[in-house]
Amino acid sequence: MTHKNCIALISVDGDPAAEIGQEEAGGQNVYVRQVGYALAQQGWQVDMFTRYSSPQQAAIVQHSPNCRTIRLKAGPAEFIGRDDLFDYLPEFVTEFQNFQQIQGFQYPLIHTNYWLSSWVGMELKKHQPLVQVHTYHSLGAVKYNTIANIPAIANQRLAIEKACLETVDRVIATSPQEHEHMQTFVSTKGQIDVIPCGTDVERFGRVERSAARKALLIASDAKVVFYVGRFDPRKGIETLVRAIAKSKLRDQANFQLIIGGGCRPGGSDDLERKRIQNIVAELKLEDYTTFPGRLDDAVMPLYYAAADVCVVPSHYEPFGLVAIEAMASKTPVVASNVGGLQFTVVPEVTGLLVTPKDEVGFATAIDRILTNPTWRDQLGEAGRQRVEIAFSWESVAYRLNLLYTHLLAQSSATSESQTQAAA
Ligand code: UDP
Repeated sequence: MTHKNCIALISVDGDPAAEIGQEEAGGQNVYVRQVGYALAQQGWQVDMFTRYSSPQQAAIVQHSPNCRTIRLKAGPAEFIGRDDLFDYLPEFVTEFQNFQQIQGFQYPLIHTNYWLSSWVGMELKKHQPLVQVHTYHSLGAVKYNTIANIPAIANQRLAIEKACLETVDRVIATSPQEHEHMQTFVSTKGQIDVIPCGTDVERFGRVERSAARKALLIASDAKVVFYVGRFDPRKGIETLVRAIAKSKLRDQANFQLIIGGGCRPGGSDDLERKRIQNIVAELKLEDYTTFPGRLDDAVMPLYYAAADVCVVPSHYEPFGLVAIEAMASKTPVVASNVGGLQFTVVPEVTGLLVTPKDEVGFATAIDRILTNPTWRDQLGEAGRQRVEIAFSWESVAYRLNLLYTHLLAQSSATSESQTQAAA
């Protein structure tokens, strides 16, 4: 038995109910939670499945009447890095099947997130009729070209990403750039739709720069450069810090570099944060630089609004939620000219794009915006408009809603004609 309106979002490694902004909890978690929430408002019963990463966690978190996070057992209830999770996935599949059995129905559609969950979806599909939609969030074939240490799981990941693209009912690329990467580096086969990530246009952009600075105790005439995100070498924070050392404005009074984002004590992000702090010290930038730690939902809109410029210096970025959150907050973005950032940031209109790792390029771009507040405001307004038109969660969920409806109708038509043929 299936329940027509019930769908499952599967995100084994990215818990949608987790605190965002530290080791491995970033854009994917936000995407699953916000898409789930918005789809529930559009009439779906949404169950979002993840794994326990601590024994204290609740089995079920109810986000809204029709949207909940459900945690299943997959390995020990502790943090396990993505590269070490694969062996626990068969247990997750069994737990999911048991959950369906207890509920007395099978989900007719699942939307899987990241390659680990794509494997879960493909396994489930061997045992029950279902439509599988998949969002990668990151492609091994692209990521591995940008990092020094390739993990042992790499070959398995690449093979699964290829099988997924070639066989699932629909893959979502979150930008035209990701679409092209899939076809160039993964496989020319596959059914791909481009549906971007989104952001909360009500939450961001409601507070003016002056009020935000007052709330954060930042001087009204300060020059504020802001980064927020996980401490991961591929985020390129080192490039930003070295660019600030080259900025012509950094010796001005009230120059501030704010590097937001949390980390798990002893985790890999802790190591990266310490490395960045050492570079800040080595370049004698300590007087201008602050590390406020993880920024929660309440303060995040204030930081974006308070900044003159938000910098996203990633070496690889499949989408990059931070860029559209800043744009929604009317703050221009200086970003690396890679991946989804080439789609979200319109150069000279909503911000500037710079070659990744180009410290002088970043310094020049940041200085151009800091020295021209009128242009900063124009870029900010244009960014806000772009996000309202293209990147609200409602519009993203609406497009997913149409896609799910279409795929479910197609699959029931196929199974009806198979039943008739067999009769
Ligand atoms: N984030 C947050 N608090 C922090 C750091 C990050 O809430 O201290 C959020 C940020 O607002 C964004 C997400 O984490 O929504 C990061 O997503 P992005 O796509 O930029 O990067 P990812 O983590 O997926 O690499």
